[in-house]
Amino acid sequence: MTAIISIRNLTKTYASGFRALDDIDLEIRRGEIFALLGPNGSGKTTLISIVCGIVNATSGSVTVDGHDIVEDFREARARIGLVPQELSTDAFESVWATVRFSRGLYGKSPDPAHLEKVLRDLSLWDKRDSKIMALSGGMKRRVLIAKALAHEPRILFLDEPTAGVDVELRHDMWALVRALREDGVTIILTTHYIEEAEEMADRIGVIHQGRLVVVEDKVALMRKLGKKQLALTLKEPLPAIPSSLAALPLELSDDGTTLVYTFDVQQGERTGIASLLRQLAEHGIDFKDLNSSESSLEDIFVSLVRGERQGAAA
Ligand code: ADP
Ligand code: MG
Repeated sequence: MTAIISIRNLTKTYASGFRALDDIDLEIRRGEIFALLGPNGSGKTTLISIVCGIVNATSGSVTVDGHDIVEDFREARARIGLVPQELSTDAFESVWATVRFSRGLYGKSPDPAHLEKVLRDLSLWDKRDSKIMALSGGMKRRVLIAKALAHEPRILFLDEPTAGVDVELRHDMWALVRALREDGVTIILTTHYIEEAEEMADRIGVIHQGRLVVVEDKVALMRKLGKKQLALTLKEPLPAIPSSLAALPLELSDDGTTLVYTFDVQQGERTGIASLLRQLAEHGIDFKDLNSSESSLEDIFVSLVRGERQGAAA
């Protein structure tokens, strides 16, 4: 699959001297949903803003569909729609006027049918004649999305699309993103909600303190770094783990009633559960209940970021 966006050795140092991005290399594949996941202040908005031509890079290069974002700015920008993190819209305009104007900005000929479809998809059609200042926060956010889609971009950036929005809008947004992907639109969203990346993304990039810590297929990421746990509720509390079982990845709860066994989820590998159960039986350790759980992307994320901190400290 060919890359639609190529980011090479990208670095950003703000005028304050703060380095917000450190040597980012990233390829976004045509037609994928890519989630850039990272805590607040990790550089997500900076990265998006550079690709969209709002912020200048300090060094490195970016091409969008083969067009350099500096040398070929118009061609690159025409392919991109951006839904910014901050709500800012022309308060006195009507919904219809602002969306039509957005399309015109990119030199596209008027296409009322397209704009109508966009507004209908976002449940904004009934509000087309309303002034934006009269809309609720959720509706304003929908208007930002409509503006970003007015010129039929092939790439859509959504910067923290669901931060602070209600559940209904969040689900509408996810449905819209999936529909756009069906149409072949490439989608890059930033989020600090792991749930959102887990739900939506084909691939995930984790960014932390301006550095890309990992870029991976979502399923592979969860398989590779995920762990499974098996919790055994014991019939009788155990004072300690028998020394002959000390080599196993076992943990005993403080009250001695639960034994937790942790193993990798990697496919094709033996879990060791059969052997564990046999050894427990040999020691006369009986259990009355057994539960398994899989680590979420959240656990993986936390462990990655923690590893990164330790790496930086070393
Ligand atoms: P995120 O979107 O992941 O929350 P940002 O890209 O907005 O992160 O910010 C990354 C870092 O760069 C933060 O520490 C932020 O304070 C800093 N930063 C952002 N914009 C500027 C600026 N204009 N001048 C100086 N520092 C900035
Ligand atoms: Mg941001």
